[in-house]
Amino acid sequence: MTQILIVEDEPALADSIRYSLEHEGYTCAVVMEGDRAVEFARSWRPDLVLLDLMLPGMPGADVCREIRKTSAVPVVMVTAKDTEADKVIGLELGADDYITKPFSMRELIARVRAVLRRAEQKAVSEIGGSTLVGGPVHLDTDRHEVLVRGDRVDRPPKEFSLLEALLRRPGKLWTREGLIARVWGDDYYGDTRTLDVHIKRLRAKIERDPSGPEHLRTVRGLGYRFDP
Ligand code: CA
Repeated sequence: MTQILIVEDEPALADSIRYSLEHEGYTCAVVMEGDRAVEFARSWRPDLVLLDLMLPGMPGADVCREIRKTSAVPVVMVTAKDTEADKVIGLELGADDYITKPFSMRELIARVRAVLRRAEQKAVSEIGGSTLVGGPVHLDTDRHEVLVRGDRVDRPPKEFSLLEALLRRPGKLWTREGLIARVWGDDYYGDTRTLDVHIKRLRAKIERDPSGPEHLRTVRGLGYRFDP
């Protein structure tokens, strides 16, 4: 049984989301206030949270942060505008994905399925102790070793950290700033081109065709994403 918590304060939209997801075989619960959503997520332990950004009680962004304190449950943010999506990702709330209103139920279901699948892959890839696996890459954090399709590749420290960050959150949309903070630290003042150069080097090692990357993808206008 896969449980989805729908946090949405527009009753008609909440109903149609619930109806569509239940039709797909998911078990759903609807909560309309942000503060109640945090408590409910803790007790009900959903497999995925669909979280509206604009909510009474507590804003969606704060709900996401609160949930993240105690749980790694995938969170899909629902935003009213594309410009909000930038902010959601930029805030590094720990959301796994977002969808912009208005969306079709087909689009929503596809997104939910994809996020659940990634969460499952992530659970599997973390089983191997110090080894992270994503697509063709095996990264061993203890041995400081990287294998691509079974072949050992060289691993300068920053490339290694960058690859590790990407592998730990498959499918996560990273802003350039978010990745730089993660790998170089918050106090890094160089320009984002340094990151782009490292991405290019990693692609040369990982991708079959570095000019048409299948794994280390560019998300236009936002940043990067690693698809296993
Ligand atoms: Ca709302």
